[in-house]
Amino acid sequence: MTKWMNKPISALHDLLVKGKVTPLDLVEDCIRGIEKDRCNSFEATCFDKARAEAKRITQVKEEEYLKGIPFLAKDNFSTKGVETTASSRILEGYVPLYDATAVSRLRRAGMILVAKTTMDELAMGGTGTTGHKGVTTNPYDATRIVGGSSCGSAAAVSQGIAPLALGSDTGDSVRKPASYSQTVGFKATWGRISRFGLFPFATSMDAVGFFTRNVKDASYVLTALSGRDKMDMSSSSRKRERYQNYVLEHRTLKRVGYFRHVLDSIQDETIRKSYLDLLHALSEKGYEVLAYDYPEALLDALYPTYMILSCAESTSNNANLDGIRFGPRPDGTPQTYAQYMTMARTSGFSDMIKRRFVIGGFSLLSANQEEMFNRAQKARRMIVDEMNRFFDSIDYLVLPASYSKPPHLDELTTAWSTKPDFLDNILTIGNFGGYPSLTLPLGVEDGLPFGINVTGRNFEDGYVLSLGGEIESIVQRCDIIAQEVK
Ligand code: GLN
Repeated sequence: MTKWMNKPISALHDLLVKGKVTPLDLVEDCIRGIEKDRCNSFEATCFDKARAEAKRITQVKEEEYLKGIPFLAKDNFSTKGVETTASSRILEGYVPLYDATAVSRLRRAGMILVAKTTMDELAMGGTGTTGHKGVTTNPYDATRIVGGSSCGSAAAVSQGIAPLALGSDTGDSVRKPASYSQTVGFKATWGRISRFGLFPFATSMDAVGFFTRNVKDASYVLTALSGRDKMDMSSSSRKRERYQNYVLEHRTLKRVGYFRHVLDSIQDETIRKSYLDLLHALSEKGYEVLAYDYPEALLDALYPTYMILSCAESTSNNANLDGIRFGPRPDGTPQTYAQYMTMARTSGFSDMIKRRFVIGGFSLLSANQEEMFNRAQKARRMIVDEMNRFFDSIDYLVLPASYSKPPHLDELTTAWSTKPDFLDNILTIGNFGGYPSLTLPLGVEDGLPFGINVTGRNFEDGYVLSLGGEIESIVQRCDIIAQEVK
């Protein structure tokens, strides 16, 4: 579909340095891809601006890895002069006056923003079906989801429309769709990348993430994005590192762990076998592969804990969406501020968002706080303490990133009465502890991809990426990915 954009940044960079393509060629190719998008991946575009920026770049040097390369951003990153709605009706028409730090840092590295991607409304959700522009589908099968909430970013990188798309990850919103779309999805340690300009969902768990076509690209992107930002007081002041060196020098730690109960619970035979093959291949390569008995009760607590904490935080974070400061005026003639706000929020949010605000408000009510919010905080602490015990003796947690094929659209249900499967929520551990976590392709079942996930200790982002690089080479060598899925 595209001529250049289906290649990784590494390959495009070589072409730019050698003068075989120009940044404008790449932007035009990206625009062609966007126009032929099959999955409903885009919210807003900024083609003219992108073309103008591309024309200004006359030369790309060897050390300018990202310069002249197009990228996309999920629609919850503020982008100066480009409409940003977080796929919510309540923000229609909102045009930010500034760029999110993640966006401005990529621009500073010479990258060119071409479009904004669809998402689950306000980043709440994991299906890619709740945005105001409708469903974003899986590039490998239009009857299935690509997952969310960073659905458009995953679908776009997967379709070869751009080699990099920003996403955000509060529960698994980059790492799960990466698994369903055969892309590399990375979320950095909490605080490693500034969240300034990223619309907050659940602040204590929100992390900037991104999709690329390989691990090496991800490591360069992290280098460009990381570092202290005075606009985000929670951004870490630890020294920036050159994360690519970990990958290029194969600098890994040696102890790889898995949860015994997870392995025993995998139903899908293909995923289970690929996972076991990978663990075996890692041990052949000299890694110590260790089983860990993570308590089942804590695994079952993941979903309720996540729901209570994330809904509580999002209820408070989104209280500013009252229809006055941002977004369209509600129809009708409200008489009071309360009426105005009620009308704006009633018509501006989908049912899913309202449900979450009800849960959040309920758990924050003073009468319920002890029983719900405080208990969830304690459960989070226990989940993280146990993970920290794991990390006392093991360097990495390696888990399948998804446990089935991407669900069919008509299989989705909004009922919250059935007991959730802990496997579907296991990646939230990475957000509870703030750990760096990476998903990359592992295999293909009936033409549908699935991924593997690597999580490491806080601020060991480089080691996580480097093990990802090792797995990437094992997966290719073992031919686990038989062919590029079309
Ligand atoms: N599936 C999670 C949710 O529904 C993930 C959201 C996210 O990471 N932004 O909230």
